[in-house]
Amino acid sequence: MSSHLVPEPSPLGWSLDHSYARLPTQFYSRVQPTPVAKPQLVLFNKALACSLGLDASTLSLPESAALFAGNQLPAGADPIAQAYAGHQFGNLTRLGDGRAILLGEQMTPSGERWDIQLKGPGPTPYSRQGDGRAALGPMLREYLISEAMQALGIPTTRSLAVVSTGEPVFRQKTLSGAVLTRVAASHIRVGSFVLFAALDDRESLRILTDYTLQRHFPHLGKIEPHQGLNGDSTPNPVLGLLEAVIESQSFLIAHWMRVGFVHGVMNTDNMALSGETIDYGPCAFIDTYDPDAVFSSIDHQGRYAFGNQPQIAAWNLARFAEALLPLLHPEPDQALALARRTLDTFPLRFEQHKLTLMRAKLGLFTEAPSHSNLIDDLLHWMQSTRADFTHTFRTLDPRLLANGSAPNLADPVFLAWHQRWTVALANQPQTSHAVEARMRANNPAVIPRNYQVELALADATLHSDLTRFNRLLAAVTRPYEESNQPQEFINPPPPGTPHCPTFCGT
Ligand code: AMP
Ligand code: MG
Repeated sequence: MSSHLVPEPSPLGWSLDHSYARLPTQFYSRVQPTPVAKPQLVLFNKALACSLGLDASTLSLPESAALFAGNQLPAGADPIAQAYAGHQFGNLTRLGDGRAILLGEQMTPSGERWDIQLKGPGPTPYSRQGDGRAALGPMLREYLISEAMQALGIPTTRSLAVVSTGEPVFRQKTLSGAVLTRVAASHIRVGSFVLFAALDDRESLRILTDYTLQRHFPHLGKIEPHQGLNGDSTPNPVLGLLEAVIESQSFLIAHWMRVGFVHGVMNTDNMALSGETIDYGPCAFIDTYDPDAVFSSIDHQGRYAFGNQPQIAAWNLARFAEALLPLLHPEPDQALALARRTLDTFPLRFEQHKLTLMRAKLGLFTEAPSHSNLIDDLLHWMQSTRADFTHTFRTLDPRLLANGSAPNLADPVFLAWHQRWTVALANQPQTSHAVEARMRANNPAVIPRNYQVELALADATLHSDLTRFNRLLAAVTRPYEESNQPQEFINPPPPGTPHCPTFCGT
């Protein structure tokens, strides 16, 4: 992690450091990507490359394809697969990067550090029965949705490139293979801690905690050898870490709820300490507002349903706190008390973030105790009428009563709510122009609606036609704008559109 070890940029702009690979060997396995037969560049994120200090314009298409397929390593790469565990649908499992390889950490010209990871580059020592490969459809989905999340203003890993491999992958059907290049603040997960806690390997836990503190929360300091022994007045960086992660997750999940995002597989290995949304598998956005909405074909119990996400985040954070217990305080009882007290702050933190974000969606600037009910009542009305979440918020208009003709106004329940809302707006000093601007900036017009994603992926994977995908990508990456956006991406699904299940794509 020390900056003097950071290499000089190479011609393309690679400046890869390897702080994770300098950790002891129980944290990862060194592994090389397995070259693919016929790499072809499908997508490349020029703006992201540029922000990373990479100038891919010097590369030919075949050179780029070889690079982002793992056939050709970037200058200074030191590829590793990371070790971790995870609670998959609640059950603890030893995992690790079974189909991902970290090439290194790109140091940008502005001094930021970003993991550059290939997803689908072939087997690693953690692949278990898997082939280490990924299919084109799911990698395109990750690219599209992660970039949409970024544009929506939600912390997320990013997507730099998708390359098709020219090789088949065998799932229920035979599919086309692909490799995605993922960019993340780090790939440290709750599951990274869970692994060493499960092994009762306290020294590794301490090393990982110190590493995470230095990488993401340097202001919290380092763990002192006798942490906690000096009484409660000494700042405790481990407690600080737990608090910071609880805070960033409560913020993240509140944002998911703001836009109707269903992650779909919130296992503890898919919760990042950086506070980024990570691992886009069976994720989707809700159309009609429904807390019970489930898209994932394997989530039979609805564990990861839309409305369960805050509780699941709290459950995952409890697993994180458990893993940290030996470091929180030398006295087990005191460690437990500290962990409990801190975990108990999650619901309030989440509610506060949600309230702030929902207020903004309603154009409210000032805080009033009545806002909570105002928000909840609108959501209940949406649930009972199966209203479209995105469309309802985007078309809310305080002047509708004056203008007259919106269909919702025929509904007395909505009408009563609308009157309460206009009173709340009238009780604040801001102009109607400011209210409108606030609402426009917080209520997307375009989200990656699942049925549109499916149509785009079908064209891309079955007919090698990316036209629809690229139109959808362009639309969802400027989600708050309505001008020059295809109406089909703004509108709710036409009546009768079937509910499309999503798949983990493993
Ligand atoms: P995920 O559901 O994507 O978070 O994956 C859970 C675990 O399964 C991770 O450890 C992955 O690396 C592993 N995995 C998923 N797909 C494959 C595959 N095709 N080959 C090997 N490992 C895989
Ligand atoms: Mg995962």
